[in-house]
Amino acid sequence: RSSPLFPNVADVDFSKMEQRERSQQAFASVHQQLGKTYLPLINGEYVNTKESIDSLNPSNSSEIIGKVGLLSVEQAEQAMQAAKAAFPAWKRTPASDRAKILRKAADLMEQRRAELSCWIVLEVGKPVREADAEVSEAIDFCRYYADEMERLDGGVNYDIPGENNRYHYQPRGIAIVISPWNFPLAIATGMTVAALVTGNCTLLKPAETSSVIAAKIAEILVDAGIPKGVFQYVPGKGSQVGAYFVNHPDTHLIAFTGSQEVGCRIYADAAILKPGQKHLKRVIAEMGGKNAIIVDESADLDQAVAGVVQSAFGYSGQKCSACSRVIVLEPIYETFIQRVAEATRSLNIGAAELPSTQVGPVIDATAQARIKEYIEKGRAEAEVAVELSAPDTGYFIGPVVFSEVSPTATIAQEEIFGPVVAVIRVKDFAEAIAVANGTNYALTGGIYSRTPSHIEIAQQEFEVGNLYINRTITGAIVARQPFGGFKLSGVGSKAGGPDYLLQFLEPRHITENI
Ligand code: GLU
Repeated sequence: RSSPLFPNVADVDFSKMEQRERSQQAFASVHQQLGKTYLPLINGEYVNTKESIDSLNPSNSSEIIGKVGLLSVEQAEQAMQAAKAAFPAWKRTPASDRAKILRKAADLMEQRRAELSCWIVLEVGKPVREADAEVSEAIDFCRYYADEMERLDGGVNYDIPGENNRYHYQPRGIAIVISPWNFPLAIATGMTVAALVTGNCTLLKPAETSSVIAAKIAEILVDAGIPKGVFQYVPGKGSQVGAYFVNHPDTHLIAFTGSQEVGCRIYADAAILKPGQKHLKRVIAEMGGKNAIIVDESADLDQAVAGVVQSAFGYSGQKCSACSRVIVLEPIYETFIQRVAEATRSLNIGAAELPSTQVGPVIDATAQARIKEYIEKGRAEAEVAVELSAPDTGYFIGPVVFSEVSPTATIAQEEIFGPVVAVIRVKDFAEAIAVANGTNYALTGGIYSRTPSHIEIAQQEFEVGNLYINRTITGAIVARQPFGGFKLSGVGSKAGGPDYLLQFLEPRHITENI
């Protein structure tokens, strides 16, 4: 069954001079706005806070992007009460009116796309083109989920003579969105608008390192006409405010994207029934990956090398979809290593804002230290095929390719979330699949091959949520590559796909004897 083509918004064409100028102007204007304060939005008001944090530019950690007020637990409770108060009216609001707000938000993002890209570049260190693609994804999420809600709103009619049977959906109630810093606009927007359009009152708790961009989402939703209390922006410490909302008896649903450790904790905490709680919570958690690309002896190596380098080092490997293992068949192993090392050497590493940058920084000092530790472990476990040096003004890590990595080595098993890739040598295709499946994760995977039987085996046996054949394994597009995994990569169905909104809804059925 083929789906009607969804009109994805186009990325900016940076080969056009006027687009490059627009981007430069946006940077100049955003630079003027650095260091401002962003406050939580509770019940339609921006409220003062006792505590705040500085959000820093990972490319240049002496630059403050913004100061973000952190919610206290008392304010978190006020937000919860406001959400509960706003719910009855939002639940009754027709789906088409809710969808209209999302479409308006999409239009506002489109108008502000150059500026939004700059905030992404500066706050999370994502190179310009990738930041621009992320804005497209956010716009697509708004428009796609608006369409999807209107599709689902009709319900299903099972009438027979003498008896009406109507199947329909209602919102669940209060949704908590806990969003990651690596797609600070797209994923935060996607989870939030999915929760909103399905009629849930929604609290957005962004990762601390991307709270300024989340404040921009709040601005946009307010400008798009979201009623007070229906959407609230609740920046705070995950361990405090995040945990408070997860454990709250009035929370119905938690949509989370982030690490496996935090995802498993949320899943466990959400399962505990609290005094006064009359329902079980739904958890949607998109967690990590240890994604592999298999390269067999029939692969087009030009394509494979470029695809691996992009999948592994795009946004410094900080995507759950990133390639962190390459499984290469014996006959082409040496050639592949040599070529991938050359391709890696040609990468430009630098501040995310520079148009020539291909690999920017990692998110913060903690991430930088953690990745460095993994690189040290890798040195003990494997051989270094190439390691690049990196600037020291911000949180940079030079990309590293390890060769002769054992499939059970730490660097072949644990998610590093940095520009580090482990190349594993296998003797045949059966071993390649076994190694590919030999982790706790099942998110993305790829195969470069021109052997139909290998492609077929991969289709059947490669345990991943998103399999990519002869292309990169990152950059899923809304309504084209619905995205998400299984095993310890997550629970819940795919973002940007036809089942996603169902998770935010409660189905009801009404039978009337007539
Ligand atoms: N959807 C993104 C992609 O396909 C990855 C999302 C993530 O890292 O959480 O590259």
